[in-house]
Amino acid sequence: MNKREGYGIQTMLAHLGDNRTHYCGAVVPPIFETSLFTFESYEAAEKAYSNVKENYIYTRGLNPTVQVVETKMAELEKGGAAKCFSSGMAAISSSLLSMLKAGDHAVCVKNVYGPAYRFLAEYLSPFKIDVTFVNGENTEEFEKAIRKNTRVFYLESPASFTFTLQNIADVVNIARRHNIKTIIDNSYSSPIFQNPLEFGADIVVHSASKYLCGHSDIIAGAVVSSKENIDRICSFEQALLGGIIGPFEAWLLLRGLRTLELRMERHMRSALEVAAFLERHPKIKSVNYPGLASHPQYELACRQMKGFSGLMSFELNCDENGIKRFINSLRYFKIGVSWGGFESLVFAPLIGCGRDIPGGKWKEPGSVPDIVRISVGLEEVEDLIADLEQALVKV
Ligand SMILES: *Cc1c(COP(=O)(O)O)cnc(C)c1O
Repeated sequence: MNKREGYGIQTMLAHLGDNRTHYCGAVVPPIFETSLFTFESYEAAEKAYSNVKENYIYTRGLNPTVQVVETKMAELEKGGAAKCFSSGMAAISSSLLSMLKAGDHAVCVKNVYGPAYRFLAEYLSPFKIDVTFVNGENTEEFEKAIRKNTRVFYLESPASFTFTLQNIADVVNIARRHNIKTIIDNSYSSPIFQNPLEFGADIVVHSASKYLCGHSDIIAGAVVSSKENIDRICSFEQALLGGIIGPFEAWLLLRGLRTLELRMERHMRSALEVAAFLERHPKIKSVNYPGLASHPQYELACRQMKGFSGLMSFELNCDENGIKRFINSLRYFKIGVSWGGFESLVFAPLIGCGRDIPGGKWKEPGSVPDIVRISVGLEEVEDLIADLEQALVKV
């Protein structure tokens, strides 16, 4: 099957790149659990080495199972090529390292995923890479933060925990005028609900551990960009830092991707009902969910997103003990970090992952220590709402 034939997403995910004639007609591509590939002759090996990017030589470079997923990922995010990594963080750090060198400056959104923040704020600083953090809701902040040596804008829209948005097209416009590259974490929306490359972003990064896999059984990441950018990442960060995805993880990711659109539709349908329920509840102070008409950036959300996922946060009208009682009373929402799987989850920065939130902001007076985050899974929404309702009684 050739690319871009005008087929739908589920059709593409079922067939693109599967190469069945090569694999004895197997409807599911095999797991090539092999570290290397051997050659019939000196000449054949020499020929393979003349184009290391497209021949099977060593699994750190190219593996057929991994290649199937990467073909689908590139098409899903409407990019020229894709590269999978051992985790979302490997995808993020590799992308940033591919675009930054000593003496450069980057602008990053404050509420990005905690470890991504730490990579920029702490890890890169001894390498003489300066970072300015901005709220990101107001596009002018990016323009104001630009210096002569600014090379990268790092976005995450919607951003972790607060789910505030950046106007991707407007930020990209500013970036382009100043020859700055835009990298965006699109894990929240998945490629089903948002395609930042279509707005001109240069690199999209994903934690494939979340919706892309969807079954909470692997850690993986992906980078999608132009063929040129991905080639560079393959030659340097993939080859030299080596944070590649394993063939088995790639195969599980492939299995998850086959139902991505179906799952996202269900997450969205349920999350909209849950958000509406929470918003009406007297014990809830506020709900952060871009799919609610009351979200301050709802209009922008509708313009740049095609849908909304199952992740949201909210504030309760109670103290820390009330939050503990609420979380301990939930039956179907399991207590756990991460999100995007089949199962509903609840988490609160108070428990500990708040340590990764920039500057301990969640602890400051007037901030939101009482924020609770839920990931709405694939269970029947009636059961989930009933679960929340009975736990809210205990607050
Ligand atoms: C989980 C997460 C990551 C990191 O992904 P890993 O696969 O855990 O390394 C990056 N960005 C966001 C928004 C995440 O939620």
